[in-house]
Amino acid sequence: MTVLMGQMMNMPLTVSSLIRHAARHAGDVEIVSRRCEGDIHRSNWAEVHERARQLAQALEALAVRPGERVATLAWNGHRHVEIYYGVSGSGRICHTINPRLFPEQIEWIANDAEDAVLMGHRGEMPASTSVPDLLCFDDLLARHDGRYDWPELDEQTAATLCYTSGTTGNPKGALYSHRSIVLHSYGAALPDAMNCSTRDVILPIVPMFHVNAWGLPYTAAMTGAKLVMPGPFLDGASLYDLFESEKVTFSAGVPTVWLGLLNHMKANGLKFSTFKRTVIGGSACPPAMMKSLQQDYGIEVIHAWGMTELSPLGTLSKLQSKHEGLPAERKQRLLQSQGRVIFGIDMAIIDDEGRSLPWDGTSAGNLVVRGPWVISSYFKSKDSPLVSVDGEPGWFPTGDVAAIDADGFMFITDRSKDVIKSGGEWISSIELENIAIAHPSVHEAAVIACRHPKWDERPLLVVVPKPGATVSREELLRFFDGKIAKWQIPDDVAIVAELPHTATGKLQKLRLREQFRDHVLPTAG
Ligand code: ADP
Repeated sequence: MTVLMGQMMNMPLTVSSLIRHAARHAGDVEIVSRRCEGDIHRSNWAEVHERARQLAQALEALAVRPGERVATLAWNGHRHVEIYYGVSGSGRICHTINPRLFPEQIEWIANDAEDAVLMGHRGEMPASTSVPDLLCFDDLLARHDGRYDWPELDEQTAATLCYTSGTTGNPKGALYSHRSIVLHSYGAALPDAMNCSTRDVILPIVPMFHVNAWGLPYTAAMTGAKLVMPGPFLDGASLYDLFESEKVTFSAGVPTVWLGLLNHMKANGLKFSTFKRTVIGGSACPPAMMKSLQQDYGIEVIHAWGMTELSPLGTLSKLQSKHEGLPAERKQRLLQSQGRVIFGIDMAIIDDEGRSLPWDGTSAGNLVVRGPWVISSYFKSKDSPLVSVDGEPGWFPTGDVAAIDADGFMFITDRSKDVIKSGGEWISSIELENIAIAHPSVHEAAVIACRHPKWDERPLLVVVPKPGATVSREELLRFFDGKIAKWQIPDDVAIVAELPHTATGKLQKLRLREQFRDHVLPTAG
């Protein structure tokens, strides 16, 4: 059979095409940054394009070769956006590192990535330094005229590198391509995803070192939206001030950042005047937070699920028209789910033998995904992490446990390493934590599996009480009565002063399990 090929142009999907488009079609649309220097800096897409090209020239002059890694240790700001485009656009790889990691972790990641250059934030250049070859970013750019043509790159070329936060072991590098970034941007901008347009003013609270700020610096360029960058100032008062002064319409971030903002607003009786919708993800959005944003502030909350290995967007929770007539609490339950896939992402749930499970809303299994912005292997690793579904290879195992309903709404019930396997049945640690956290004296709660001679594993609840509050083991266990099946209620409670967290603020269950490795359950006798 002869194959008839399409007769369309083969234009590579590249990061430079995004910034060229933004500069040409939304050149005067602003990029506003609250900088480490303390000032508010105003730039626009045309200027970012100009400075990104100056940076490309500077990297040329510094003899940084194509494919070499240029690392950043930086907050959200215009210079970081310039680096995104200047580094990737010129064929080098932008490697974002989280400045909040411990120095040993930064050292480990920078060595693993073999970074050639490191770019970091400082208020001012130090008068003297022990750092070899230290250069000032702005001076470096000023030496070049910006007359630079972006190279024609193969769209499969690597563009950026980001390490997983390592909640489940050593950090691993996800190496994104130009093509995957552009396709992810198209997907992210769709109405049932982030719904971004040139009329939007986007404030990414999610840091640019956390999976490319969920792609927002690219999606904003693609749609010609205004960007407002908060720098390191993520406290409630600073954020509220920026939301109002820059007329922000859309934002995105992990649940914890909203706590500070909402507390500040409640304490001062404040309201938003332009802010309309937000994407919350990275960990499950607590129902109470979603309700408060919706009901007290009129904000549309879009719950999203994703991960570093997915660039990061996979699913987002938006209702279909057939759900309009549903009672409020059923709608809320769907909005509280991790949502439905964006076109481009394909998902399945499988049992431990790789057989796919039905989408009935209750069968829970290991969540696997595939798509053009899902990794096929980790940086520098030859081993494929991929698995088969019903004998068909090529699926990425997310490490999450989920159920999917008939409409494709996905509900994360746990991480596969965190689920408690009690006598062949699975107990969701997240479900138990959500119940515990609703107790008025509980500040933070974690549920982990504890060895049990009869049931293999049984749940142990670890609780940090609210400051000044006391709560007993018996009272906490009683609190589960009627809220969950009796056999799922934890066997024991440990009250602690604090729980271990990663630098991105996620609970470190691995460490918690080590801490309670020798814990003997009262039911184990
Ligand atoms: P790491 O895997 O190192 O913690 P990521 O930022 O890639 O770093 O985290 C991805 C994980 O975060 C997912 O696999 C999932 O367990 C969790 N996650 C992300 N979004 C959500 C969400 N909306 N609800 C529940 N869990 C989520």
